[in-house]
Amino acid sequence: MNGNASPSTKAQWLALKETLHIENRPFINGCYQSVEALESIKVVNPADGSCITEVFACGQAALERAVLAARESFDSGVWSSLPPVERKKRLLALSRLIYRHRDELALLESLDMGKPVRDSLNLDMNRAVECFAWHAEAIDKFYDQMAPLSENYLGLIRHEPIGVVAAIVPWNFPLVMASWKVAPALATGNSVILKPSERSMLTALRLAGLAKEAGIPDGVFQVLPGFGYTLGKAMALHNDIDCLVFTGSTATGKLLLQYAGQSNMKKVYLECGGKSPHLIFDDGVDIDKAALTAARAIFFNQGEVCVAGSRLLLQKSIKEAVLERVLQHAASMKAGDPLEMTSFMGALVDEAHLKRVLQYIESGICEGAKLLCGGQQVYQDSGGYFVNPTVFDDVTPQMTIFQEEIFGPVLSVCSFDDEDEALRLANNSCFGLAAGVWTADMRRANRLSRKLRAGTVWINSWSGGDMTMPFGGFKQSGNGRDRSLQAMAKYTETKAVWYDFTD
Ligand code: NAD
Repeated sequence: MNGNASPSTKAQWLALKETLHIENRPFINGCYQSVEALESIKVVNPADGSCITEVFACGQAALERAVLAARESFDSGVWSSLPPVERKKRLLALSRLIYRHRDELALLESLDMGKPVRDSLNLDMNRAVECFAWHAEAIDKFYDQMAPLSENYLGLIRHEPIGVVAAIVPWNFPLVMASWKVAPALATGNSVILKPSERSMLTALRLAGLAKEAGIPDGVFQVLPGFGYTLGKAMALHNDIDCLVFTGSTATGKLLLQYAGQSNMKKVYLECGGKSPHLIFDDGVDIDKAALTAARAIFFNQGEVCVAGSRLLLQKSIKEAVLERVLQHAASMKAGDPLEMTSFMGALVDEAHLKRVLQYIESGICEGAKLLCGGQQVYQDSGGYFVNPTVFDDVTPQMTIFQEEIFGPVLSVCSFDDEDEALRLANNSCFGLAAGVWTADMRRANRLSRKLRAGTVWINSWSGGDMTMPFGGFKQSGNGRDRSLQAMAKYTETKAVWYDFTD
């Protein structure tokens, strides 16, 4: 419990680390349990390569127990039939508990996946707190409807919980991504089984204990750590899971659609990858602000962001001026120790991901893009996985670094002559998660906001968002939406109930 000010120095975070109890067991049917795991998963601190703990990897047997508990809890009505106002109270209690434990959770997340603890505390934890509170508050404002029928009939359009929901989430914002699924799914009365990424399990496991403390009944919220290709696949193929919600890569999303088709045709909602274009026009925009925003849009969270502004499209006449400023900002946004409050970027999540990012950089060089800064691993002596901001100029749409999601601090820059060319370049992608436009011409802003094929379009800004705004993608960035009342609707079945009062 935390009634005091949060740590503000590395020494204070290290002192807190000494007091952490790190849970390494799955949470099934209301308690942490040791399972008959064939494998365990090493949790490695990406800042120094040290092993923090080993977590039980759940397999089919643990999944069967969890699905049974989820089904029984759902059918019993212990949660699904609770008055909405009661569900609201308990989810608000969970939101408060996350807030109270924010220091511990922020530190776990930073140690687990390498992000700066400052961002983890100030951004991720606040967003998770807010997400649970928002969906809790929405529960008793989420009305059913009545159809406009003639007077002898009554037609009710009811939203009912779907049943057992499996949530599979990634590692880049572990608690926030989990919250975006778990909060609306619980709010609408479902029983939820969460599988965190095998690269970031610690806060999800901790969340399970906090949910119990908040009064979420046994079996209603369970957390199973495990590998994607075993546990995740088994969840997607399971015939007694009614709905699968996912955030992760497009490649995995495509597999999940197949698994659903091979099993019970469960509902599948996907939030997948992105390669978001950031367009800057020469029609009078504040290029200082645009350049700073462009640098933050790609280097925040080490570039491990689904909506990273990874393709910077600059109108030719201002290209050099903007690029010069972006490079200055890149030089000040270096990677550093995640526990130092001054580090802009932390470490990449693990060695495999580091290698993947370096391979993309290599492909950029080999395919003829011009490397302007960064481009290699740094601070190797630390044992961690650090790469500094990397910028490529003269990138063309044929290049791998223009088309594929790198998920690291690598910016691809290209130029355009006019609005038509900018739009063609921007939409030249299999992804459609987000886009940004800097223009002083509001007619142009309106035109492009309509023509850009993306789930979110930012005008003269990047990364703004709120629980009231839906979030998700066009094209291969996914389907369905997280956040807002649209997320609540996603976790319900629509039932039409027909009353006939004719004689
Ligand atoms: P990933 O697809 O490798 O893994 C995501 C989750 O899926 C993990 O829990 C993993 O264990 C599981 N998984 C992997 N293979 C599986 C399989 N065969 N069957 C079932 N589950 C499986 O993605 P990642 O590397 O963890 O995350 C990065 C990706 O997530 C990026 O593409 C990023 O753009 C995307 N992402 C999207 C959003 C969004 O809202 N659209 C947000 C954050 C991250």
